[in-house]
Amino acid sequence: MSLRKLLVDVHTHVYLPRYASVLRSRSNAPRILTRYTPSGQSEDRLLILDDEPSGGRPVGAQYWDRDEKLKFMDRHGIDISFVSSANPWLDFLPFSEAQTLARELNADLESYCATGPSVVSDANFKRLYGFGLLPLVPGAPAESLPAAVSQLANEHPHIRGVIIGTRGAGLGLDDPALEPLWASLAETGLVVFLHPHYGVGAQAWGTRENGHVLPLALGFPFETTTAITRLILAGVLDRHPDLRILLAHSGGALPQLSSRLASCIDHDPVLLGRLAHDARWYLGRLWFDAVAYGAAELDFVSEAVGRANRYARGGGKERKEGSSRMLFGTDHPFFPPLGETEKWRSVVENLEAIEGVERWSEEEKAGVRGGNALRLFGLLGTTKMTTGTGGEGSKQ
Ligand code: URA
Ligand code: ZN
Repeated sequence: MSLRKLLVDVHTHVYLPRYASVLRSRSNAPRILTRYTPSGQSEDRLLILDDEPSGGRPVGAQYWDRDEKLKFMDRHGIDISFVSSANPWLDFLPFSEAQTLARELNADLESYCATGPSVVSDANFKRLYGFGLLPLVPGAPAESLPAAVSQLANEHPHIRGVIIGTRGAGLGLDDPALEPLWASLAETGLVVFLHPHYGVGAQAWGTRENGHVLPLALGFPFETTTAITRLILAGVLDRHPDLRILLAHSGGALPQLSSRLASCIDHDPVLLGRLAHDARWYLGRLWFDAVAYGAAELDFVSEAVGRANRYARGGGKERKEGSSRMLFGTDHPFFPPLGETEKWRSVVENLEAIEGVERWSEEEKAGVRGGNALRLFGLLGTTKMTTGTGGEGSKQ
């Protein structure tokens, strides 16, 4: 199989057994609890928020068992997965506990990947790589974070990035205290997977029972949109041109709102002269998963990314292929099918969406399915990043 044909999932989660047992030991959210149905059958349920809709969701082996992950990958033709801990990561722990658990879970994840199988058509590739965890929790001393980043980068060869939420050390990701963190992440080349957990303003959802639909379909992507916009407005992308940020759920509403954002910045005296470029330029500095479930949405994101260079301050450059910044993902094991089916609809829809983007060449589609991820995570042998362009190679 040619490398270009590999299917690579960059958005796929796990609650490692050590983490699942922490959740089981807790009496408030986030927690896993066992409850009994009227017929006496036991069922494990995951509650990740205090006001979790529908009494949480059922959880089972697919959340923690590596064989289940591999079976899912086989069933859907996924060659390689970049596995990340699912939300809420370590956010609910005091710093000292988060620090210890992060170290333990990162070692667990390294072993989960390293002792797993290789790709059959090319044994140089493992089937599992990971995003590690940082003890980036409320109250974390910011000066301790670069050491955690270095440890990940130096001691865990299969961990190619970190997954982070939006709260930072308690004040959000635009907290000036986090500057050393961004510097160390840029320096190591670890990919930062920015993922939501809390949503925004749950009071907006009203009182009608709508299951998880409103928080998941709207709250999650708005949370990501707000977090990345705050990073842009704080100048973090200007100061750290090598920082490589991958946005969950295709960047939420950022592509759709980027011209409005640019206009609001241009009309606000507080922002005058703060940013190096027009807001739309920053989209070309980011990476977007392709977890959008529709071809029109993927097409739109790639157009918004592709035009980014035109918004460089001091003279626009030519368009780029926006698709080169987009990467297939599944969000497994969330969104399981409601009935018995061979394949998960959530996965099939994301693959059909890629196939259905009429503007993309076959080569671009292959890039979104796998080639772009292999490049971003440095699996194609490039070791050095190039400054300012959001270079392509990662640590080896
Ligand atoms: N997808 C996730 O990654 N987390 C959730 O809580 C729900 C869906
Ligand atoms: Zn996810």
